[in-house]
Amino acid sequence: MSAEALRAGARRHNTPATNGDRLWNDIVATARFGSTDKGGVTRLTLTEEDRGVRDWFVAECQALGCVVEIDGIGNIFATYPGEDMSLPAIAVGSHLDTQPQGGRFDGILGVLAGVEVLRTLSESSTRLRHKLTVVNWTNEEGSRFSPAMMGSGVFAGALSLEAAHALADREGTTVNAALDAIGYRGEAKFDPATFAAYIELHIEQGPLLEASATEIGVVTGVQGVRWFDITISGTEAHAGSTPMAQRDDALVAAAEIVLAVRDIARQNPPGVGTVGFVEVGPNSRNVVPGSVRLQIDMRHPSETGLDQMQAALEDAVRNAGVGTKLKHIWSKAPVVFDPAIVEAVRHSAEALGFSATDVVSGAGHDAAHIATITPTAMIFVPSKDGLSHNEAEYTSPEECARGAEVLFQAILELDRR
Ligand SMILES: [Zn+2]
Repeated sequence: MSAEALRAGARRHNTPATNGDRLWNDIVATARFGSTDKGGVTRLTLTEEDRGVRDWFVAECQALGCVVEIDGIGNIFATYPGEDMSLPAIAVGSHLDTQPQGGRFDGILGVLAGVEVLRTLSESSTRLRHKLTVVNWTNEEGSRFSPAMMGSGVFAGALSLEAAHALADREGTTVNAALDAIGYRGEAKFDPATFAAYIELHIEQGPLLEASATEIGVVTGVQGVRWFDITISGTEAHAGSTPMAQRDDALVAAAEIVLAVRDIARQNPPGVGTVGFVEVGPNSRNVVPGSVRLQIDMRHPSETGLDQMQAALEDAVRNAGVGTKLKHIWSKAPVVFDPAIVEAVRHSAEALGFSATDVVSGAGHDAAHIATITPTAMIFVPSKDGLSHNEAEYTSPEECARGAEVLFQAILELDRR
């Protein structure tokens, strides 16, 4: 459906509608902050490029009648007044920072769709009952300062402001100094009950929507992650003089574990399992490998699924031999979004006549942190060839327009509740 048809449909229903052409103009206008020769964007968090796009965002929102507030980690909150100022705000947003040689859509689409909703409300002199806040979360990407999703993490209380301020990049510049350098260390303070709901529109960053020709992904949650390190100790031996029956080959044992990880994921759909790192010692053509290190990443939308995958991995490691050790080094619990907010997104997509399907996010998002304190959901739109964190990242004007309109209609539905 074209942006024009969208507007015509909305006119029939006598409600304002977002303007896909105007949203696309904003996507083009903001891609100049950190633009690369190959049509991508390099806009690392808290750099001059980030300051440029933040200044643009603040100026646009102020011109639309928003009050703009900035908190201690540099999150930006642009709030459009509602009829009942005593009600908590409905919030939407995402992030303006990118990866090095990133794309024009990852993150910023969710912020610009919020701006487009503000433009739509302002142009039609529409007031919602609730205030509407459009948020830019600081440092979602985590490529300059680790961890990722820092601003939303501080907001949700997963990370203290002091600890975040002290983190440094490779040059030794702290988050605190970088915030001051671009003038975005604010003083605003919010309590966890600030928002009635949070919805984040984002590109899918994967191939599923495009492959199934589905227009909208109704995101029901974010899958959980568990990381394991495995060390396998065999016996280094001469590749020519050691008979096959008398070998204790660490790499052969590792190969069995690699295949087991694949099979475990296949047996626990929609789980995924990856061995992305292998280190072989001594790594020499004519020596039977004496040691191997493997790094394993396993993901599943449910805690039970993760438990089953981990138990199966422990079995596989036990069967691989005595010198094999497994260490569970890190995990992130699955996030299940609020059913009522998810339902508002699903209903909005259906009412607009878009094809929609429930999906679980494979990647982390700010919404995962916000979900711990606010009823939250996400909307996905397709990514061409599933590409993201890539200069070739692309989502068409029509796809962006659909996402923004689903966002707007979901906001209207939540506002009526
Ligand atoms: Zn993102």
